[in-house]
Amino acid sequence: MICPVDTKNLSTMKIGSTAHSMVCISHPSQIEPALSKIDSFNNKLFVLGGGSNTIFGDNLENTSIVKIEIPGIEISSTTHQEISIKAGAGEVWDDLVKFCCEKNFQGLENLSYIPGTVGASPVQNIGAYGVEVKDSIEEVHAYDTQLHSFVTLRPAECDFGYRSSIFKSNPGRYLITYVIFKLGPNRRPNVSSYKDVVEYFKDADSGVTISQVRDAIISIRQKKLPNPEQIPNCGSFFKNPIIGEQTAKEIKSNYPSAPIFPYEDRFKIGAGFLIDQCGFKGKSIGKIVVYSKNALVLTNPEGATINDLFTALMEIKNAVRSKFNIDLEEEVNLIGIK
Ligand code: NAP
Repeated sequence: MICPVDTKNLSTMKIGSTAHSMVCISHPSQIEPALSKIDSFNNKLFVLGGGSNTIFGDNLENTSIVKIEIPGIEISSTTHQEISIKAGAGEVWDDLVKFCCEKNFQGLENLSYIPGTVGASPVQNIGAYGVEVKDSIEEVHAYDTQLHSFVTLRPAECDFGYRSSIFKSNPGRYLITYVIFKLGPNRRPNVSSYKDVVEYFKDADSGVTISQVRDAIISIRQKKLPNPEQIPNCGSFFKNPIIGEQTAKEIKSNYPSAPIFPYEDRFKIGAGFLIDQCGFKGKSIGKIVVYSKNALVLTNPEGATINDLFTALMEIKNAVRSKFNIDLEEEVNLIGIK
């Protein structure tokens, strides 16, 4: 059924307004009929997964939301070296990771406890603790609204980058239906060099298991990230900026503990560190509160509006620009902004 929807409850940030219409898709065969209906409205199309990385604004009168709820997790093939898992785009991401870790399939354990759906994982090329989902993707199945047909994209065709992909840079073009993952049976887990993980395992012997890595990541994330069901938020609000060598050197000489890491031929700096250095950690900016344990997370404990959010994010961006001469870029998707 296609009907108007209050988008506030579709985003874990709990900010939004009424969109023209929404349709839920639980099988690929429902896509073409739904799209022809949306075409007849002459509306913009927005494809929604779990809403954990999406913030809705006030300008949604001409937007139709397609919510992908295609279910299913199945082992599609196995060899001695590789397991293929086919997962419906509507599955909860962490249910898939749990399934794989319990079966001792290696590849996704560092991506435990990330909110959102399977279908959103390639869009954002989700990453955590030194692992990106692109490394475990074999194929992405989607409906291409430009070609008007179902397509299968191999990783080389997905234009994966740092928290980016062809799906992110072409909003509304692809409706992801299934993702096929390639995982390793009986491979050693990826114990990352990230300081929280190193600290967690400092007393462990050499035989860390895939499930132990998953437990570690869940425990670390629970300590540093607010649960959106208790405090509305969308996780990391900004991307970690990529900076040149000279800027990296200057910041490192003033702030020796700054989290700066090589990234391709440049450097990546933690956005949370920059925001913290500007004095925002734990601070309220109107109704938006910068999370006290992680300055990269903006929270909405008091029912903020999109204007409240924009005021806060402009204040943060301006402060970081004037102190470090670095422009922060949003990692979250902002939809329907006037
Ligand atoms: P952190 O340890 O405080 O470090 C700050 C940033 O520095 C991280 O974002 C990370 O970049 C980078 N970093 C740290 N150690 C690194 C290393 N050994 N090698 C390369 N880069 C390193 O970070 P945090 O905020 O607690 O986050 C830990 C991990 O969880 C990160 O990978 C982060 O992306 C992920 N995370 C994701 C979300 C989300 O909503 N998507 C939310 C929270 C945390 P990278 O981000 O590139 O890894």
